[in-house]
Amino acid sequence: MTQAFDLSGKVALVTGANTGIGQGIALALAAAGADVAAAGRTPAAETVEKARALGRRAEIISADLSTIEPVGRVVDECVDRLGAIDILVNNAGIIRRADSLEFSEADWDAVIDTNLKSVFFLCQAAGRRMVARHEAEGVRGKIINIASMLSFQGGIRVPSYTASKSGVAGLTKLLACEWAAKGINVNAIAPGYIATNNTEALQADETRNRQILERIPAARWGSPEDMGGAAVFLASSASDYVQGHVLAVDGGWLAR
Ligand code: NDP
Repeated sequence: MTQAFDLSGKVALVTGANTGIGQGIALALAAAGADVAAAGRTPAAETVEKARALGRRAEIISADLSTIEPVGRVVDECVDRLGAIDILVNNAGIIRRADSLEFSEADWDAVIDTNLKSVFFLCQAAGRRMVARHEAEGVRGKIINIASMLSFQGGIRVPSYTASKSGVAGLTKLLACEWAAKGINVNAIAPGYIATNNTEALQADETRNRQILERIPAARWGSPEDMGGAAVFLASSASDYVQGHVLAVDGGWLAR
């Protein structure tokens, strides 16, 4: 069964892989054997260096995913430079905070465009390649979208983020239904509270930090490495019959 988690010879495209959860996932996939294309705004030099140190091929693909303009090129570059796209991890994401009564159209559009629109069109661009490859060679494709606890809960003062992550969960299920018989698994990971740049302010706020830790059954923040194990499972043949699942990796937050 351990061989089921082996990603040797696979190519993974990970967005937002320069830091945080994206970096944790990219390096976990590399440790499991995958070559990695790290696509994003800030060049993922450290991630690529560490993946190469593990003996993998790794490439930086420059792309601002606040628009869908680069998505076709990103997938093409992954295939041109690494020979294929077996795994797509849609991780890049942003958050904007304000009361819903005051929330601006700019903050709505920025979050929806990055977290939802680009995710769909990256799935589409990768999905076209994966379906064609499955028809020609029988190779399965794996798509992993990064959702959130706010795919299941409402949250507060983050209307566009909650809408985007609920959308990601719904999209994951729809694409899984459309593509399950075409050789692609589409699933999502819903991280809980993970210690990254994104959550630095929360970690630094003593009161909020205590409240959060009291509420998490595991009594600790998650790490980017914690996301890696789930990603390796969903990227590997061990999950070939898992479709449209949104896997909470949250130290038990949602179970409470
Ligand atoms: P970080 O802010 O640490 O990383 C976000 C990543 O997304 C960075 O690589 C960032 O690149 C990239 N990104 C943002 N905007 C764009 C853009 N326009 N084009 C290309 N790349 C972009 O966040 P996390 O690692 O915490 O979050 C990663 C994902 O996990 C997000 O989708 C987030 O919503 C989700 N998540 C995180 C949780 C947490 O507790 N941390 C909880 C639930 C979900 P750059 O450095 O250039 O800005």
